[in-house]
Amino acid sequence: MYFFNYRGAGMIKRFVILILFPILVFLLASPVYAQVPPETKFTCIVLGAGGGIEDDNLSCFLIAEKDSSDFICLDAGSLYSGIKKAESAGLFNEILIPENSGLLKSAAILQNNVKAYLISHAHLDHISGLVQASPSDTQKTIYGSSATINFIKDNIFNWQIWPNFADEGSEFQLKKYHYQVVEPNVEFQVTGTSFTAKSFTVSHQEPYTSTAFLIGNNGNFILYICDTGPDAIEKTKNLNTIWENISTLVASKKLHAIFMECSYPDPRKANELFGHLSPVWMISELTNLEGICAKNGFHQALQGLNVIVTGIKPGIKSGETSVELIKKQLSESNNPGINFIIPLQGERIDF
Ligand SMILES: [Zn+2]
Repeated sequence: MYFFNYRGAGMIKRFVILILFPILVFLLASPVYAQVPPETKFTCIVLGAGGGIEDDNLSCFLIAEKDSSDFICLDAGSLYSGIKKAESAGLFNEILIPENSGLLKSAAILQNNVKAYLISHAHLDHISGLVQASPSDTQKTIYGSSATINFIKDNIFNWQIWPNFADEGSEFQLKKYHYQVVEPNVEFQVTGTSFTAKSFTVSHQEPYTSTAFLIGNNGNFILYICDTGPDAIEKTKNLNTIWENISTLVASKKLHAIFMECSYPDPRKANELFGHLSPVWMISELTNLEGICAKNGFHQALQGLNVIVTGIKPGIKSGETSVELIKKQLSESNNPGINFIIPLQGERIDF
């Protein structure tokens, strides 16, 4: 100020307000300074997003290579009702059904475009859509851990709860579905698709387990973790092992999204999590992943990472919904700079 007379100082002030400040705002908002997201490689059609009690909106996600219509199906809580909702939302407009097929478009999509099922665990909210649709489905493979396959084989497709549409278990076998047991940490090809997958065991209220899948396609990946509790409460290192496995994929932006469940809003007592996550535990686990990346030399590696928040239980009390609460709680403690996405049934997400 010493060097300027009053008029000069006024000019500087106007220069700052009218020119420098807008330039600064423009630069901060411009993509040059924002986290540049990786090129989108996958398409997800959300057939079901919730974790109960709404029986027409339960975990079920179709995944395709971007702009392809050949899907693998991650869990199948609400399958056919989800296809119908996505169809009415115009998400399958590019799929053309031969006029002489004699099928409803939704049924044709179920039969022709859903190529395989990868099931995290056999709880009803992850398989009921598959069971309900089975009479109108076509021959496919169901992938799951030995525990998941055995539960479905022994307790569902057994002619007592439902006819046996599979190729193992109670006689008579209708052989529509082929069971494929997947071994933890062993990559496998999803039959009839360009997808690979590798499974990891997670704990879903000890001793019950669930399965996470690392899905690959031409060098790009997504990670699907459905129902699980945090390592600290489940007294395991299962999630930590997954984080160790994917840290370089995160850092190299080859991991395009993590699907992760968050059943309840906070506060939630540890003994009332029942093998699930709440925002505080979700952030804690993702912060652990961030730390592992940093330990390997990749700092702030989670900035802009897509985390699709699944399995929210809508709750039965009036007032603020669980979705709103969870969204707020995650954003308030989002120090890693994650791009949290709360999926809606009948929407398409590209990542
Ligand atoms: Zn479950």
